[in-house]
Amino acid sequence: MNSSNYNDYFVPTFSRTGSPMVRGEGMYLVDADGKRYLDFGSGIAVSALGHSHPRLVSVLKDQGDKLLHLSNLYFSQPQIDLARMLIEHSFGKKVFLCNSGTEAIEGAIKFSRKWASKTAQDKYHVLSFYKGFHGRTYGALSATAQQQFHDGFGPLLEGFHYATLNDVAATKAVLDKNNFSTIIVEPIQGEGGVNIATPEFLSFLREYSREHGIALVFDEVQCGMGRTGKLWCYEHYGITPDILTAAKPLGGGLPLGAILCTEQIASAISPGNHGTTFGGNPLACALGCELLSIVSEPAFLEKVTRSGETIRAKLWALAKEFPVIRDVRGNGLLIGVEMAVDPKAIIPLCKEKGLLLIKAEHNTVRFMPPLIVEQADIDAALAIFEDVMKIIAKEQHK
Ligand SMILES: *Cc1c(COP(=O)(O)O)cnc(C)c1O
Repeated sequence: MNSSNYNDYFVPTFSRTGSPMVRGEGMYLVDADGKRYLDFGSGIAVSALGHSHPRLVSVLKDQGDKLLHLSNLYFSQPQIDLARMLIEHSFGKKVFLCNSGTEAIEGAIKFSRKWASKTAQDKYHVLSFYKGFHGRTYGALSATAQQQFHDGFGPLLEGFHYATLNDVAATKAVLDKNNFSTIIVEPIQGEGGVNIATPEFLSFLREYSREHGIALVFDEVQCGMGRTGKLWCYEHYGITPDILTAAKPLGGGLPLGAILCTEQIASAISPGNHGTTFGGNPLACALGCELLSIVSEPAFLEKVTRSGETIRAKLWALAKEFPVIRDVRGNGLLIGVEMAVDPKAIIPLCKEKGLLLIKAEHNTVRFMPPLIVEQADIDAALAIFEDVMKIIAKEQHK
């Protein structure tokens, strides 16, 4: 059966082609025809330790033998360990565990609104930023200020407002108009094209929110957990939020999300206000502990920084040679390459040659390899990308 037929089975939410992937080996994915792909997308920033990392597989087997599911009516040891580790390694004093990024955002909106409702009944407005991405459920979708995700799904939730990232004056004008409970921002916008928040802008958000009793939420679902060479992206800024959302890599490949927050935010919540059946299940949490213990090592994080610098330097060199590369942005191993053409033409060519990359909005191609990437992988990936740039340049000259 060819891949166009596989598409017959599914609600067409994704457009995909090719043979199914059957196996992962470190930096590589292998498809049913035995073809190997260097994975510079990491399952959309999930597979931080590559595929089938031996330490994760070993924990998976051990925990699988002990306990797979436990309801949140009881404590499990992996969940306690993960919560303690997250607190030890962050600004956070309390943790809520869920299953995904969008759920972490939903919880963050609920927690911040509940907290703010103790001040004033109408203190429920939520600010987020154009080109941001926060998820697909209604709260997270309402906070995702990109029209193409909203079309046909209205009405969205009430009280959501948008401003332009890094524009202090325009943001202040929006904030001054309503009684806000919540500001949600990605320190680096991932899906929106790897757009980096400036230190001045995040400082402004921190000061304004503190003055006005607004909860500042950093969405680190994509940029957190070591991807930028610090465990959390906020560490680059010397600013702490009131709430942080994490997910993608957290469960070592299993679904797991987390909300970290301050004592004050947590003190607004009582038993029964929020919950989850699967969130923080023992298997995902056991993997989360192992992952966190690896990616929080200073030597591991330094290597992420160095690998990122190597890739960006090489991409800038290619940009000099190929004007179709407009810009190279990012921090650590969250890297965006803005192109003068739609990356739809580039990504399939890279895949054909054995390199997986991921598109972001605004003509951007994302390089976000597993954090364990080695020099030889970087050389191999960039050789393929250079080949593809040559093909694109030739086509443009026709
Ligand atoms: C992917 C993503 C989400 C949504 O996470 P899901 O697990 O897909 O629900 C939210 N915020 C950011 C920044 C993301 O990159």
